Amino acid sequence: ASTLVIKDLHVEIEGKEILKGVNLELDSGKIHVIMGPNGTGKSTLASAIMGHPKFEVTKGEVLLNGENVLEMEVDERALAGLFLAMQYPSEITGVTNADFLRSAINARREEGQEISLMKFIKELDKNMDFLEMDQNMAQRYLNEGFSGGEKKRNEILQLMMIRPEFGILDEIDSGLDIDALKVVSKGINKMRGEDFGCLIITHYQRLLNYIEPDHVHVMMQGRVVKSGGPELAKRLESEGYEWIKQELGIED
Ligand code: ADP
Ligand code: MG
Ligand code: MG
Repeated sequence: ASTLVIKDLHVEIEGKEILKGVNLELDSGKIHVIMGPNGTGKSTLASAIMGHPKFEVTKGEVLLNGENVLEMEVDERALAGLFLAMQYPSEITGVTNADFLRSAINARREEGQEISLMKFIKELDKNMDFLEMDQNMAQRYLNEGFSGGEKKRNEILQLMMIRPEFGILDEIDSGLDIDALKVVSKGINKMRGEDFGCLIITHYQRLLNYIEPDHVHVMMQGRVVKSGGPELAKRLESEGYEWIKQELGIED
């Protein structure tokens, strides 16, 4: 089992403090969800963990199995087992989806232990079938001309192929129609297991009709202000965030 521990994380963008001391502990085997109003720093948290250069960590720690992630280069973070589904995944011109996946898998393996082409293709076919993806997606250039829904499905394909220790999925459900939402959820549920932990960031409860989270956290004004189980998400859906503000004495 793996752990991802975020301790008193403070992050600035262009000199403005966005995260003001985030504390969160994730274990593999569990699905955590972060919800919260717009602009409270949810995406900032995801980007800071993955090392986006625009985000400056001014204080705090992110520890993956006790190792300081913040001291790692971005590619080292992926090699160590973190996976971030980008809110707006970028196109990588000239690299096919299949090439990208195969090198991402092999990058995490020892020399001489690379996945064989046969095995890779078999896995890829199986997972693309499962996600009801068109087989030609494998040979398309990564994210080039992918629709919003195709990008999201493809992120779940990446997750299933790369099998990271922790997946951080930011707004994986935004802009999806109901069928795509079901497929994306099916993929995440398939990943569930002892050696996979997940942090899902979402505005909406509707994803949680398909994925039962183990833990739900509420983020407001740059901090995790409340944690609970699935019932917390349900209460947010019906009552919004006002009651939490009142409970905690948070002003707008
Ligand atoms: P959330 O994901 O919870 O909606 P974000 O993390 O995207 O919130 O944003 C938190 C705050 O940081 C907002 O006030 C937003 O305007 C600001 N912010 C986010 N990204 C940038 C950026 N690249 N440059 C400047 N400000 C940013
Ligand atoms: Mg936002
Ligand atoms: Mg966001």
